[in-house]
Amino acid sequence: MLKTPLEKWIASKVSQKSSEENLDQIDLRSYQLEQLKRTVDYARSESPFYRQILNGLPSECLRNLEDIGQFPFTTSDHLQGRGAEFLCVSQSEIERVVTLRIPGSETIIRRLYFTANEVEQTVDFFHHGMSTLVEAGQKVLILMPGERPDTVGDLLVRALARMGVEGIVYGFVQDVAHALREIDRLNIDVLVGIPTQALSLARHDDCAFVRLGRIKSVLLSSDYVSPAIVGELKRVWGCRVFNHYGSTEMGFGGGVECQALHGYHMREADLYFEIVDPQTGKIQQYGQPGEIVFTTLTRRAMPLIRYRTGDLSKFLPEPCPCGSMLRRLDRVRGRISDFVRLGTNHWLGTPDLDDTLFAIPGLLDYRAVLNDCNHHDQLDMVIDVGSQQSEGLLNNFRHALMETKVLKNAIDDGSVSLGSVIFGSLNPSETSAFKRSVNDHRGEAKKR
Ligand SMILES: [Zn+2]
Repeated sequence: MLKTPLEKWIASKVSQKSSEENLDQIDLRSYQLEQLKRTVDYARSESPFYRQILNGLPSECLRNLEDIGQFPFTTSDHLQGRGAEFLCVSQSEIERVVTLRIPGSETIIRRLYFTANEVEQTVDFFHHGMSTLVEAGQKVLILMPGERPDTVGDLLVRALARMGVEGIVYGFVQDVAHALREIDRLNIDVLVGIPTQALSLARHDDCAFVRLGRIKSVLLSSDYVSPAIVGELKRVWGCRVFNHYGSTEMGFGGGVECQALHGYHMREADLYFEIVDPQTGKIQQYGQPGEIVFTTLTRRAMPLIRYRTGDLSKFLPEPCPCGSMLRRLDRVRGRISDFVRLGTNHWLGTPDLDDTLFAIPGLLDYRAVLNDCNHHDQLDMVIDVGSQQSEGLLNNFRHALMETKVLKNAIDDGSVSLGSVIFGSLNPSETSAFKRSVNDHRGEAKKR
């Protein structure tokens, strides 16, 4: 098994003297501590936002990495409409501005700024991370946007070119049959995309266009990747399925799985990760689950200190089978905001539904909506199985929903009832392009 190529890459960044052989935890942690101190000093000095909230917290407070727990969090609310207050360089040094909007509207949620060097760092990460799963001479089809410069797809194409791999941007799939024909016509070896999009290809009637063995690897990038989807891709294509974790705030790339396919190795020279208790904000004991929080270690345009991602995971304490000394973060278990409350003490999230429903053959995607029906919570479902609709299949979905543990418990104690379960056609590019969640249409008072 190939050791994660990220280790050698990180070693070269951490110390000019370190090589792959001698990077150890002590080298890496002392580098991270130095970079944390620099980031704190730099942000306090250059960013109006951090000057205010880090008032009285100098970098001398950081005697060890755990001391970062004394520093306040940065949240997505802080970034809303205030991106400029985080800026530490002049606008002339900005290479790329990413504007995140509420899906389907012009309302800006937040803006992130990156220098040319920071864009290059992401390309470098993609280059080394992708060498885990693709080799020179192969072709990668990217089922994500990339037509504009410095978008994820564009950065990935540039990264792949550095290793003699051709990356082709396809964009979000709207016509599944067309995408399958393109995979065949272009002799694609590797797919990069979102879980439900990859699944829609694997479960399409025309999937026979792609012969077994054609697709060697699939890289999925998402808040949550259900084992049911991974299992189906492996079954249909006989491929390996890797997970990537990242966000715009991280500079797109955060971590990627090695060939052990069990948790991501992280971009530890550029980002310092913590797991905190989502309620209390306290740093969790190593290996305990909680919310992922990160601090940028090398960013100049817009450093972020203790940024709360809202994503749930935990560190994996056991050594990785690939032999790397780098830490591993378990596959993300969804976002905190993915979970909706049923009654007083049940929390239902898309991961629960994904694990049960995607295991049913034929499912392409679904939409879950919680409605307030005569002052009683009701879960209504739209199920997309393409042309395979049948009463028997619909019963399978009803049965699976009733057996989804959280939902079953909530139904049993009267917190919610299962409403309509109907077949419908969901636009794959619309449902997949945005973060998937249970749509909560109940009155505000009933939400968390
Ligand atoms: Zn590994």
